[in-house]
Amino acid sequence: MIGVSILGSTGSIGQSTLDVLARHPERYRVVALTAQSQWQRLLAQCIALRPEIAVLSDPEAARLLATALREASVSTEVLAGEQALTTAAIAPGADVVMAAIVGAAGLLPTLSAARAGRRVLLANKEALVMSGRLLLEAVRESGAELLPIDSEHNAIFQCLPEGAAGVRRSGVAGIWLTASGGPFLRRPAASFASVTPEEACAHPRWSMGRKISVDSATLLNKGLELIEAHLLFGLPSNAVEVVIHPESIVHSLVSYVDGSTLAQLGNPDMRTPIAHALAWPERIESGVKSLDLLSLGALHFEAPDRARFPCLRLAEVAAHADGTAATVLNAANEVAVQAFLDRRLNFDRIPAVIEQVLSRLPSTPVRDLEQVLSVDLEARRLAGEEVIDRGIRA
Ligand code: NAD
Ligand code: MG
Repeated sequence: MIGVSILGSTGSIGQSTLDVLARHPERYRVVALTAQSQWQRLLAQCIALRPEIAVLSDPEAARLLATALREASVSTEVLAGEQALTTAAIAPGADVVMAAIVGAAGLLPTLSAARAGRRVLLANKEALVMSGRLLLEAVRESGAELLPIDSEHNAIFQCLPEGAAGVRRSGVAGIWLTASGGPFLRRPAASFASVTPEEACAHPRWSMGRKISVDSATLLNKGLELIEAHLLFGLPSNAVEVVIHPESIVHSLVSYVDGSTLAQLGNPDMRTPIAHALAWPERIESGVKSLDLLSLGALHFEAPDRARFPCLRLAEVAAHADGTAATVLNAANEVAVQAFLDRRLNFDRIPAVIEQVLSRLPSTPVRDLEQVLSVDLEARRLAGEEVIDRGIRA
């Protein structure tokens, strides 16, 4: 039995992971589950799966969970606080760790799982983007495995016969990173100021958590993914090209020097990359139907509009800087997106907040964790100031 720890089990990726695991009870057992504060959902998961550990970073929610589990005679140990997320990440018997916490909060547990030499399934792209080479170095030093869950990166991984490490030797010329374009692909920029959180979170192809949904609407998600691809596959940032593909059927492509281009296709459902990374190099059933080409119709591709979606351009500049600019970009974006979701910032002001913070904190090479955490903190502080300055336009 392969032991699995799921960081962020109550979220969109966490629940899709549990759906795949439930199809293979003879192969996987759940060792640890974590969430921020959704204790009722975590309670239901604990009753069904009986993990050894359950963590809630919110102490009050953890107390409620512990009481409810006792009443249900479930012996799962409940831990509270941020530090306990790391305990779950390196729990004994957790061979595989699904890193599916959203945002910078996932960095330390993900890094710990990598240092402990586990198979890390990386959904939490922010952890990699903000820490740059640090996570990759931890993986290399411990002999851990880092497998991408992001559908695009999982697709690229599948199109690289030698896996990520062999990329240079295998004659790769470049990568096409596909993007659906999000809910506002055809919406005029003049109306971006009045975008509501509900509109931004209504993605046409994917059902996801709120933060990544907003990122998809600004195209900053594709920018984070550009940096993620550059780091994971060891390619220069100019070898990764973003292409809009509204149908979200082709999940990304790899071009080779001989003129070949390989693509991975599938219905837009995260259970496919999750099952792929869980079982790699084997294949297991995920619950996702194979494509029916006869009913699929046409697939379209077009260039992204960087004038209407300046976040993509900002991320490209940060990717090119190849240092703490990515940490700053990520932190400023997290603050801006939260302010937008809380209705304290207009949607069209998100790029301006990020751009201002980037201009105030020049990029330096990534050195160590202490530096990354202090840059992250400073970028959050400056972004908070920008949010107050820019606020809501009447
Ligand atoms: P979500 O909001 O649905 O779930 C987030 C999970 O993290 C929840 O379990 C929540 O309790 C936990 N969490 C949030 N903040 C926390 C904190 N401060 N401390 C501890 N736990 C915390 O998000 P999601 O859509 O599942 O996305 C998770 C990650 O996967 C993100 O990094 C996202 O970019 C990435 N991702 C998601 C999708 C998708 O389809 N949902 C696709 C690709 C990548
Ligand atoms: Mg993606």
